[in-house]
This record gives sequence, structure tokens and C-alpha cells, in this order.
Amino acid sequence: MNYDHKFIEKKWQERESFEVEEDSTKPKFYCLDMFPYPSGVGLHVGHPRGYIASDIVSRYKRMQGFNVLHPMGWDTFGLPAENYAIKTGVHPKITVAENVAKFKAQLKQLGLSYNWSREINTTDPNYYKWTQWIFLRMFEQGLAYEQVLPINWCPSCKTGLANEEVVAGKCERCGANVTKKNIRQWVLKITKYADRLLEDLDLLDWPEKIKEMQRNWIGKSYGADVLFKLNNGKEVKVFTTRPDTLFGVTLLILSPEHPLVESVLSELDNKQDVINYLEETKNKSDIERMEEKTGVPLSGLFAINPVNGKQIPVWIANYILSSYGYGAIMSVPAHDQRDYEFAKKYDLEIIEVVSGGELPYTGEGNLVNSGSFNGIKSSEAKDKIIKEFDSVTKSINYKLRDWVFSRQRYWGEPIPLIHCEKCGIVPEENIPLELPEVENYQPTGTGESPLAAIKEWVNVKCPKCGGDAKRETNTMPQWAGSCWYYLRFIDPDNDNALVDPQKEKYFQPVDLYIGGSEHAVLHLLYARFWHKFLYDIGVVSTKEPFLKLKNQGLIMAYDGQKMSKSKGNTVSPDEMIEKYGADSLRLYEMFLGPFEESVAWNDNGLIGTRRFLEKVWSINLVEGNIEDRLLHQTIKKVTKDIEEFKFNTAISSMMILINEWVKTGTSRENFDLFLKLLYPFAPHISQELMKDSDLSWPQFSEFLVEDDVTTIAIQVNGKFRDSVQLAKGLNQQEVENIVLEREKVKKWVSGSIKKVVFIPDKLINILV
Ligand SMILES: [Zn+2]
Ligand SMILES: [Zn+2]
Repeated sequence: MNYDHKFIEKKWQERESFEVEEDSTKPKFYCLDMFPYPSGVGLHVGHPRGYIASDIVSRYKRMQGFNVLHPMGWDTFGLPAENYAIKTGVHPKITVAENVAKFKAQLKQLGLSYNWSREINTTDPNYYKWTQWIFLRMFEQGLAYEQVLPINWCPSCKTGLANEEVVAGKCERCGANVTKKNIRQWVLKITKYADRLLEDLDLLDWPEKIKEMQRNWIGKSYGADVLFKLNNGKEVKVFTTRPDTLFGVTLLILSPEHPLVESVLSELDNKQDVINYLEETKNKSDIERMEEKTGVPLSGLFAINPVNGKQIPVWIANYILSSYGYGAIMSVPAHDQRDYEFAKKYDLEIIEVVSGGELPYTGEGNLVNSGSFNGIKSSEAKDKIIKEFDSVTKSINYKLRDWVFSRQRYWGEPIPLIHCEKCGIVPEENIPLELPEVENYQPTGTGESPLAAIKEWVNVKCPKCGGDAKRETNTMPQWAGSCWYYLRFIDPDNDNALVDPQKEKYFQPVDLYIGGSEHAVLHLLYARFWHKFLYDIGVVSTKEPFLKLKNQGLIMAYDGQKMSKSKGNTVSPDEMIEKYGADSLRLYEMFLGPFEESVAWNDNGLIGTRRFLEKVWSINLVEGNIEDRLLHQTIKKVTKDIEEFKFNTAISSMMILINEWVKTGTSRENFDLFLKLLYPFAPHISQELMKDSDLSWPQFSEFLVEDDVTTIAIQVNGKFRDSVQLAKGLNQQEVENIVLEREKVKKWVSGSIKKVVFIPDKLINILV
């Protein structure tokens, strides 16, 4: 019989089911993929690489007796469906349903062992009810607050963007230049969790690279706050990591957005210059501002250096961002690269205060030009200066900013709040607060969401006083639904709670989380933040959501470029499955190279794994049970490799075994053991060939995997009759003596021996 992958794969996909038991007496394993945003173009072969790996681990863990929760769902709010709606008028929920159906069919064809009964969709009101619920709890605790912010504004998408959605000064979605706009926003106080988000990274088995990116994003630094008095009686606070360089401060620089600037305009000698400068920087992105450093003095204003009483000029400069520190810096041109460049450009004073090298010198050294601190090591001077001066105090600074959590879009979770003139902001407890239908998906362009145009939805009675009130019209950002989805898989149909506490205790945390490294910071940081909040209010029992993280590398196109529809270099899994089968494709994607590295696609490789399965299909089975050393070594190797995510070497060791068996054949029992090894990788063909229906993970014999023991095949007249485990290195006579005593051999050796063929440590053939 030919290997008919279509028939076999359909048969086993219909037969297999992977519902997880909720039996807390068994050990559990929660294996999760980062759920996809289903786009209209469907999957290309690069997408399932992580899904196949998580499927291998899930099947392997089930074979080891774990209760495996391995669910799948859809992250479906966000701009693509909305932009498509703007263009075509098709409601995003219709587009989403089509895309989900397409993705799901593609995943099913791959034979992925998901608990499909637990499927979730972030745009389902029964799901986002709980996203809204979490937001309300945060609001109650003061973690969600309103703020008018100079946000990043995309003039083309007509929406505010989070910093992370701005790539090189351009809108991540449409590529337009990002500008600034003041707008009322909802902001989440992630900064309150900065220390815990930092410290608890140590609890996680994540790639060190990802942890480091999170640490940098949080950006904790130790230093001092310094208060500078101005000649007009006001004060400006700055943060510095180098209080030891305070004697070298020659300039105080404010960001153009610093609140002081507006208030001192009338006092300035060069008011018009400053107004012009402010206008000019307003329309520049943060990136552009960093590229060409410019500034203007606030003439007539000066500050007093608290350590020596010296008067220093005050400037504003574009490269000082309001989002860092206090939006103001003390400039020390002798010991800071950017300050140095700025001082050179505008011919400003430079005073060296740390000796040690050419300017700007940013290392440590002995203090000079620093009054009574001269000669002290800079590392020691930090604390001494903090102690000496009241206006210099120890401080910690973070790069992490609070999370701008609202968007002026339609296709997002409505924020369940009501604005009442009398009562202020009142929570809408009647959730889910569903998205109303709209005629026009276009943002209003004033900065308001399309929801603002639906009068009958916006105008409500205040739940508190019954008076006229208005709904919040901002919606949540795309990240919201993915912040907690892993919890809903545990209890997807619960109407009364986000997750049942008993079930949560059993299944949490996620033991293995697999996804792309592009989520190194945002999704993973936001989800950790929400998880910690849920921990604080008693909804979850673990400090961290995802114990172990693995990032798959990309699969590049034939040409080594990134696969994309627009480049026309994508490969569709549908076509490959049709031609070679899902099992061949699964094997190939794992065989391509180390899981975490980028690799290029090549059809020939897929043909190679297909050939391997054809060999498996037609292995010659021989009578009797043979103790097979290579098999046991392969069991040991594959077990270890799966644990270590070395799927490629696991597959090559199975290939070596099969190549051996093509020559020698193998017994039914040994073949069944091999098929169990193959099962997590190629589940359809393995089950089709298996006689043994018990799917437990095979154990290897410690004795057989020892290196100083070998299996010698025994042939009589060229036919395989027996095998024997012997110490390595025996000579022909020694082996012959042992072999001829064996019952199975004696039976065939009648008459005199004509010749013996001997291959040391491998084979003895007795010709009679
Ligand atoms: Zn845009
Ligand atoms: Zn009211």
C-alpha cells in the first residue's frame, strides 16, 4: 500500500480529540501559544513554526501522563479590520469571523492538538465583559486615570499612538510622520508596578535577551534629584545619575513642553524667538528631535547651582523630552556626550570636574574644580555631595512611563465609564457594555472616536443620580484583550467570574509560552502588569503568568527575505499539505534548524522529510523481539531533545535509526516504540502504523544505552535470526563461541560451518 497522507490525515484529525480533564489529582501542564491576530491573507508557512513546537510538547506531555491544557483563540480587536471597514464599509465583525474561520481551518489541517472547546475571541462580548471588568477594578483602585497629554498623533490614521506604535518617527500602521496633539486620555499606572516587574523577572525561565529588554524598558537608575532655584523665585527639579559632576553644570535645559516655559514667557527678553521655537518643535517627532539637537535660551532667566551658588543660563532644547525624568536636565558638557555636542554648537561654557580622559569624559575619576571635593573619587563623591547639600537628594528614576490606554477608534472594547456633571466619573457596572452599530467607521478627526457621533449611545442617565450624563467614547487599545486571555482559557464559559478560583489554582501558571520575539516588551510587560494587579485583588494565585518562554525564529522565503504577501514570496501551508502532507510539513518545519534561529525555506527539505516518512511507511518487520541498542539510544536522545527544544536533532536521530532499519528491518515491538517517538512530530502516520494503542512515552533501557555495550545482529546464511548484547571490542572467536551457544542460533546451524563473516561490534553471519 502506498503512503496516502490525505486519507490518513483526514481520518486521524476526525478521530482525535484533546479535551483536557479537570482532574486535579493528575499533574497539569499548561502549554500556550501566543494567540494570533487573524489577518485576511491567512497563514504562510512561517506562522505555524511555534504552533508545531507547542503541539509536539503538548503531545509529549500527554504521553507522560500530564493533563495538558493546550488552547487556541483569537486576538481580534485592532486597526486592520477597522481600516478595512473604513475602506469597504464591511463591519469589522464580519471580516473577523471570515478571517478566524480561515485561520482555524488552516490550523486544523496541521493536526494541532488544541482543546477547541475552549476557543476564545477577544471581540466576543462575553469575553470583553471581563476585560471591562478588570478595567473597572483598576479604575476603583486609582490605577486608571484621565490625563491631557501631548500624545503621538498620526494625522493619517487620525488617532493617538502609544510610543511603541511609533517606529522611527513614523506611524507603525501607515508610515505617516507622527506629530503631537494634546488630548484627554485614559492612562494606566503601570509605573506603580515598576519594581515588581523588574524584580520578578528573576523568577522566570525566559530567554535572557528578552529579560534584558524588559529591564531596559523599565530603565531603573539610581542617582539624585537636584533642585535649582531660578532668579524669578521659581524652582526646577532635575534627575541625574551623576551628582558627582554637579560642579560642572553650566546650563539648565528644559524640554519645550516643560510647564514652566509657558508661565515665564512674558518675563523673557526674547519672547518671540521662544514662541517660534516652540511652534517649530511641536510638529517634530521624538526621533527627529534626537537627530538634530537645537535649542534657544530663555533670556533674562537664570538658575543657581546649589553646590557653588553660581549663576547659570536656562535654555529649552528639543532633545530634552518631557517623557524622561522631570522634563529638565542639568547640562554637564564636560562629561556627557549630548551636552557636549550642544555646548560646542552654541559655544557654551565647559568645565571639567572629573579627571581621567579626553572630553567629554564619561567614566569615573578624581574630582577637580569641585571646591572641597577635589581629589575625591567620583564614585565616593556621589554620596558625599548628596549628604552635603539639602537641594540634592537621593533618588531613583525609571524610563517606564504610564500606559496610555485609550484610542479614538471604533473597533476596541468600550471603556465602561459615564461622565456626569454632578457625580464626576461613574463606573458602568452593567457589563458587557457592547459596541453599538455605527454607520461610519471613520475617526472623527477631531480626536474623538466614531462612537462620539452616536447620540443615542453616548447620552445616558447617570447610574448614581439619574441625571443626564455621557458615556466615555474612547475605546481600549489593541493590547487590552491579550493582557489576560490565558486566564480565560482555564474557564471560558464562566458567566459569574473571570475564572473560577479552584480551576485557576490548578492550571496556573502557564508552564510553557511560545511566540515571536517581537512581543519581547509590550505584550509580555502589559500582561505581567495586569497579572500582578489581578494577584493583588485575589483573582490569581501566582505572581507571574508565564513560567517559561520560548521564541521561535522566523522562516524566511527562498530568497532569504522576510515572507510577505506584498513581496510575493510567501509559501502557503495549504499547498504544501496538499502535496506532501501535514506530517511531512510538521517534520520539516522542526528539522529546518535550531528552533530559535531564523532559517530559509526550501521545498527540497520538505521533500526530504516526506521521503523519511515513506521509509517509515515501508519498514520491513521481522519475527521475534530484538533488543536494539540504537533504538534505545534514540529514545534517550529524542526525550532529551524535546525537553531542550532541540527538535531538529531529535528528528535527525530518528532518521539515522530508520536508515539503519531500512537495512536490517526491525521487530513489531521495536517499531511500535519508534512510532511513539515519532507521534508528537508526525501524529497521523504514527497512529496509522501503530499496533499498540497505548500512547505512553517510551522508556529507554539504561543498560542498552551504555556506550561499552553493543548489539550484534546474528545471521545464518544471510538471514537475520537473533541478536545479542555484548561488551564492545570482542574478537570473532569470542563472539562465535557465545553466539553458537544460543538456542535460536543452534536451531538454524545444522551441519558444519563453512564460513563466518564478522563485522566487529555489529554483525556475525554464519554460513552453513
Ligand atoms: Zn497612521
Ligand atoms: Zn450623576
